[in-house]
Amino acid sequence: MNIIIVGGGVVGLNCALTLAGQRKSDDIFLIEAEEYLGTHTSTRNSEVIHAGFAYPPGTLKSELCIEGNRLSYELLGDLSVPNRRCGKWIVSFTEDEERSMALMLQNASECGVPGMLPKRPKDVASALPWLKDVRSAVFSETSGILDSSEYIAALDRKISQYRNCHILKRCRLTSADARRGVMETTRGSVNFDVLINSAGLFADDVYRMAGGKSDFKIKPFKGEYYIWRKGPIEGLVYPVPDRFLKKGDATLVSSMGIHLHRSITGDRYIGPSQVELPQSKKSDYKIETPPEVFAFASAHYLKAAPHASELQPAQAGNRPKLFEDGKAAGDFVILKEGPAMHLLGIESPGLTAAPAIAKRVASMI
Ligand SMILES: Cc1cc2nc3c(=O)[nH]c(=O)nc-3n(C[C@H](O)[C@H](O)[C@H](O)COP(=O)(O)OP(=O)(O)OC[C@H]3O[C@@H](n4cnc5c(N)ncnc54)[C@H](O)[C@@H]3O)c2cc1C
Repeated sequence: MNIIIVGGGVVGLNCALTLAGQRKSDDIFLIEAEEYLGTHTSTRNSEVIHAGFAYPPGTLKSELCIEGNRLSYELLGDLSVPNRRCGKWIVSFTEDEERSMALMLQNASECGVPGMLPKRPKDVASALPWLKDVRSAVFSETSGILDSSEYIAALDRKISQYRNCHILKRCRLTSADARRGVMETTRGSVNFDVLINSAGLFADDVYRMAGGKSDFKIKPFKGEYYIWRKGPIEGLVYPVPDRFLKKGDATLVSSMGIHLHRSITGDRYIGPSQVELPQSKKSDYKIETPPEVFAFASAHYLKAAPHASELQPAQAGNRPKLFEDGKAAGDFVILKEGPAMHLLGIESPGLTAAPAIAKRVASMI
């Protein structure tokens, strides 16, 4: 059997690794349009291994994030990818945020998220002395950080050890005939028995190429980050997720809010923003939001916020936000139509969930 995976981001690579190990008598080909693997969203994110407390119980995001959290630490250890289970602080400063924190804890318990520890304000003050005085806080023990570029490189190396799995870069899918099992790429025609669409921001285009009839659209929502070189930030410090504060349309908010984090390589970040882009700008990674916005957002947390001039533009990534019939899907969509399996709307927590998504896909073939 020929299994073709479209897309060499963290999700496609995890699918390739899982299938290569499980299906020794099948041939697995992963095709990637760009020259390098992981060029798009997989290396343009917060590099956080999420715990899964922010998503509604019973959703794919919740289930695959919780399972993916556990599987990611195992996999990153096996692959020797730099990672640290440093935990994450979720902090509240206002009465509203404090009330929402209780809803967040309730949600975490309904989802079965382990290691959510309420902390006293004085514990926070001694751990994070540069933070304003909090009203309440929770420490999520299972959250952590990883190096996404090293992760992609390690997956590539590991996959190349399997003789039944082949990665083709600079190979773009241009059309697919699911009935005949033939696809056209920029490097020629290929026959397939199974097509796995893990094309990230472009998964809606691939869905249509493979004959999909539903009205799926992926809109890019940009997230920009600034670096604060001389800042005191340590660890991961997050606000209570917006959906518990009932701000705006909860299905549209895939961002966990502007947070403060120190990455595995030691950089101190403030971000990400959330800016809706036109459909035609899926690969637009320019940083356009001015530093003042990030300095202002960080003043919510910090005793001494940075001046905008102290912040340097760092990077941006685009969230592949899925809409069906014009309505935000609000969850990952994993569906099988004929020989094609489509992974749509794999926004955050997709980096965390990737090994669990791969396991799910393997079980559906
Ligand atoms: C700002 C931001 C912050 C985030 N933070 C986190 C976080 O802290 N933790 C977390 O768990 N998740 C986070 N995420 C989400 C996470 O990064 C994504 O869910 C994950 O990277 C998606 O991986 P992917 O492989 O599906 O997509 P991608 O990495 O985009 O890979 C898809 C690949 O498909 C290729 N492709 C597209 N079309 C074709 C074609 N026709 N032919 C061949 N190849 C094609 C593309 O070139 C691309 O390489 C964040 C996302 C953003 C944007």
